[in-house]
Amino acid sequence: MILILKKDASEEAKNRIRAELFHKGCVVREMNGTGQSVIAAIGRGDLDPKHLAAMEGVAEVIPITTKFKLAGRQWHPQDSHVQVGPITIGGQRIALLAGPCAVESFEQALTTAREVRRYGAVLFRGGAFKPRTSPYSFQGLEEEGLKILARVREETGMPVVTEITSVSQADLMLKYVDMVQVGARNMQNFELLKCVGRMGKPVLLKRGLASTIEEWLMSAEYILAEGNDKVVLCERGIRTFEPYTRNTLDLSAIPVLKNLTHLPVVVDPSHATGIREKVGPMARAAIAAGADGLMVEVHHDPEKALSDGPQSLYPEQFGQLARDIYVIAPVVGKQLDFDYLEKSGRSPHPSSGADQVMAAYLGEPGNFSHIACSQYLGDNVKMAPQSTFRAIFETVESSAARYGVIPLENSLTGSIHENYDLLLEFDLNIVGELFLRIIHHLMAAPQTRLEEVRRVWATEAAIQQCRQFLDRYPHWEVAPVPATASAVRHLRDQGRRGDAAIGSREAALLHGMSIVAEGIETNPRNFTRFVIVGRIPLADRPKTKSSVVFSTVNEPGALFEVMKIFAADNINLVKLESRPIHGKPWQYMFYADLQADVNLPEFAKTLAGLSKKTDFFKILGSY
Ligand code: PEP
Ligand code: MN
Repeated sequence: MILILKKDASEEAKNRIRAELFHKGCVVREMNGTGQSVIAAIGRGDLDPKHLAAMEGVAEVIPITTKFKLAGRQWHPQDSHVQVGPITIGGQRIALLAGPCAVESFEQALTTAREVRRYGAVLFRGGAFKPRTSPYSFQGLEEEGLKILARVREETGMPVVTEITSVSQADLMLKYVDMVQVGARNMQNFELLKCVGRMGKPVLLKRGLASTIEEWLMSAEYILAEGNDKVVLCERGIRTFEPYTRNTLDLSAIPVLKNLTHLPVVVDPSHATGIREKVGPMARAAIAAGADGLMVEVHHDPEKALSDGPQSLYPEQFGQLARDIYVIAPVVGKQLDFDYLEKSGRSPHPSSGADQVMAAYLGEPGNFSHIACSQYLGDNVKMAPQSTFRAIFETVESSAARYGVIPLENSLTGSIHENYDLLLEFDLNIVGELFLRIIHHLMAAPQTRLEEVRRVWATEAAIQQCRQFLDRYPHWEVAPVPATASAVRHLRDQGRRGDAAIGSREAALLHGMSIVAEGIETNPRNFTRFVIVGRIPLADRPKTKSSVVFSTVNEPGALFEVMKIFAADNINLVKLESRPIHGKPWQYMFYADLQADVNLPEFAKTLAGLSKKTDFFKILGSY
């Protein structure tokens, strides 16, 4: 049963409800995410809905009609996120899990770990107890392998995941690793499932070699029923009649699962294909299909691997794959964050109780600036909405927030000039950038049909970007709201039947609205580039881009002279923008983005040359 509690239910009433369910022998789970308290109670037969409905504090009792009582979305409509150390699996940041099939030595594990970390992996994998088809094959280093994994975590800061093949390994796993994997061959080892449920560590549950999605989710249910809600599903290919690949990767499982369950889904393209060259294409497809992450086998010397060498990527191949995923992710509303681990190390973790505001952004929750913020910094950091761009700069300058998230340019509508001026005025650094795909949806109160819509609230920008769609409905009244306000919140608070708003999927979810028409922006290649401004960089890694601003003397060829320096030093210019200088009519500041870290010593000569050929020169940041 799902018990929806009254908003004003007292703690005593809630305790009485819990006690009653406990007394009946139910499995009980609670959720407070949506501003409403919801209790899922799974009994073994004699739950009387009428009796429960009559209890004080209960607003409604709904039977759970799906088999996946805890894994299903019926009681838990929002996606769940699984925390593994500093890493979140699920949500808008893609998690790359990578490492060798088996831990073979400390050297091998550490070398591979350093490589995959450098290329963007956030979790290190490696088997210590290997379930091999033949008893004569390498079986893993067992406890020694777990100790190596723990040392690798100490050295690299990456949490580690490894397979548990028997209940008897539980204590060792608790001691050494951050996440346990239940392998394909053990997906229906119910004693093992109950055991990892009781262990409470995050679990990576692989799909069985020949298991249906239903059987798989029922296995997840075993873990959840023991009280462990940290379950991540891993599709790794199933047995079919096709021998060209080791297994057949069931990509359709991703959207099927996304519909059935709130649990995060990752894909293992390595065991799915068994062939190195096939790993990249299937990994890219998995992300495009909506996977929350990938688990990829990588070995620093795959020719010498003791298991699964032929499917293990060389580190550079993994690096290339990560770059591809970085490009694909924004198309499906996600990010691959190369600095994920560094950022997680620096940002105050929610459990640390730190209340420092991490980021200031324009507007309010659910808008695109807010989405950019959580894609860049994770959604468990404190964020402070501001009502003007200037206020963001001021908030960061006064140290009231560490970072500011600023839209600089849209791929259709061009630059946001005000922010260029503010970058010049304030003494802050650009420390990062992020590309966000802008997808607009038409939304209204649940059950509203498109034909019923009469009035639409939206920001001017959204109206412009959805012009073609809106033109199809000339009888609609289109009502603009200020850029910083949420049209969707306005709809929730003031809407009547027939009212709708344009907004993001996140805003619909946040304000309890339903999407009536999906993806209504005229041009789907609609991206906004955000930059992150702050005082301290978020991650110590090589920078690939610099933003600079300069003005030149007013004489023939002055800009050309500056460009000549970039050309001579082989610095690729990826953007050039000019802005009028306030108070000096017809004189301009030039903003340039360069593909180089101009702070490196090798560019000292370049900078010296630039200062000679410019009136004013400032580095806005390297990132
Ligand atoms: C593994 O990930 O090392 C493994 C053995 O995978 P699976 O259980 O999917 O075969
Ligand atoms: Mn393997």
